Amino acid sequence: SALFSAIEMAPRDPILGITEAFNADQKPAKVNLGVGVYYDDNGKVPLLECVKKAEALLIEKYAPRTYLPIEGLAAYDRAVQDLVFGADSAVVTEKRAITAQAIGGTGALKLGADFLQRFSPQSQVYISDPSWENHRALFESAGFTVNTYPYYDANTRGVNFEAMLAALQAMPQASIVLLHACCHNPTGADLSNDQWTQIIEVVTTRGLIPFLDMAYQGFGDGIEADGQVVRRFAAAGGPLFVSNSFSKSFSLYGERVGALSIVAASAEEAGRIMSQLKRVIRTNYSNPPSHGGQVVATVLSTPELRQLWEDELAGMRVRIREMRAAFVSKLKEQAPAHQFDFVMQQRGMFSYSGLSKEQVGKLRETNSIYAVDTGRICVAALNSKNIDKVITAIASVL
Ligand code: PMP
Repeated sequence: SALFSAIEMAPRDPILGITEAFNADQKPAKVNLGVGVYYDDNGKVPLLECVKKAEALLIEKYAPRTYLPIEGLAAYDRAVQDLVFGADSAVVTEKRAITAQAIGGTGALKLGADFLQRFSPQSQVYISDPSWENHRALFESAGFTVNTYPYYDANTRGVNFEAMLAALQAMPQASIVLLHACCHNPTGADLSNDQWTQIIEVVTTRGLIPFLDMAYQGFGDGIEADGQVVRRFAAAGGPLFVSNSFSKSFSLYGERVGALSIVAASAEEAGRIMSQLKRVIRTNYSNPPSHGGQVVATVLSTPELRQLWEDELAGMRVRIREMRAAFVSKLKEQAPAHQFDFVMQQRGMFSYSGLSKEQVGKLRETNSIYAVDTGRICVAALNSKNIDKVITAIASVL
C-alpha cells in the first residue's frame, strides 16, 4: 500500500549493530567490549543471590498478578525514595518527593520528558557532549529541541569544566539540563564534589530545571557516595527530576525496573504533580509490570537481602576496578610509550579509551575485538581470561 511503500528504513542502532556483527563473527576468541552490560569473570551476566532469594520468597507467598497501581508498587516506590534521597532526608520526611515505578531507566526518562512537555513546552533540553545516545532521541520524541553542553575534553581525557559551567551560565531560565549523577556514560569522566557545588549553584541561581539520570548507582565509589549528587540537589530545593535504574545494579536488565522521582517545594505541590504524572503513565501503558518491582522492593526492605545486595554490588564494583588496574598496568608493560593512567580515574562500566575509529576498526578486523567507534569500551566485559588478548591487540594498534 501507499502507506507502507513510503516508509524508509530507519538507521541501525550503532551499539546494537556492534553486537549483531559480534554474533555473526565465527572466530572462536572474539571479545565484545561494545556492550553496556556487566559480565562476571566467567563472561556471564550474573543472576544475583539476593534476587534468587527474593524470588524464592515471592513464590512461597503465592502473590497473585493483579494490576499494580498506576504509579507502581507502593513498597517499591518507598524503597526507591529511601535509597535515592535517604529515609531521613527532608524531601522524604516532608513528603515533597514523589516516586513512580517506571519501565527501566529509559521509561523513567520518557515519563519525565512527557511530563515536562506538558508543563514546560517552551523549555529546551541540554545534554552532555557526548551523552548516552538515547537521551537525545527520548527528549526529541517527546517534542523538545535538544542541545548539548560541552563536557568531555579529549586532550585532558577529563571534563572541560570551565566550558560546561559557562554553558550553564548562558542557558535561558527554565532550560532542562540533563546530568549524569555518577559514572558518566559513555566517557567514565565524572565531576568532583567541588565542581558539583558550582553546578548546583548555577542551576539554582539561574532557575534551570535539573534532570539527574542515575543508571549506575553503586558502580562508582559505592551506593552512598554515588547517591550524594542527587541528595545535594534535593537539599538545594526543587524542582528536580531523577530517573534511576536497577538494570545494572541488580543485574535485572530484562525485567525493566526503574523509577522517576520529582522533588517539589511542598507536599501539596507534590500531590498535584503525582496526579498529573499518573495521567502520563495511564495514557502510555496504564501501570508497570510487577515482577521486577516486587524483587527489588523485597531485597531493599529485607535487612539480610539488602546486605547481600550491597555485598554483591560491591563485588561488581571491585571487579571493574581490578580490570581497570590490570588494563593500565599491562598496557604500561606492553606499550610503555603510551599513557593510560586516566582509565583509573574513570568511574562506572565504561572507559573512553582514547582509541581512534581507525584503531577500533583494526581491533575488529584483525583480532575480533569489538568496541564502539568512539573508543568507548565496556570495562565490565573484561575478565581474567580475555584481558591479555585484549591488551596485546590494543598494544599492536597503538
Ligand atoms: N541512562 C543511562 C546513562 C544509561 O546508560 C542507561 C542504560 N544503558 C539508561 C539510562 C537506561 O537504563 P535501562 O536499561 O534501565 O532502561
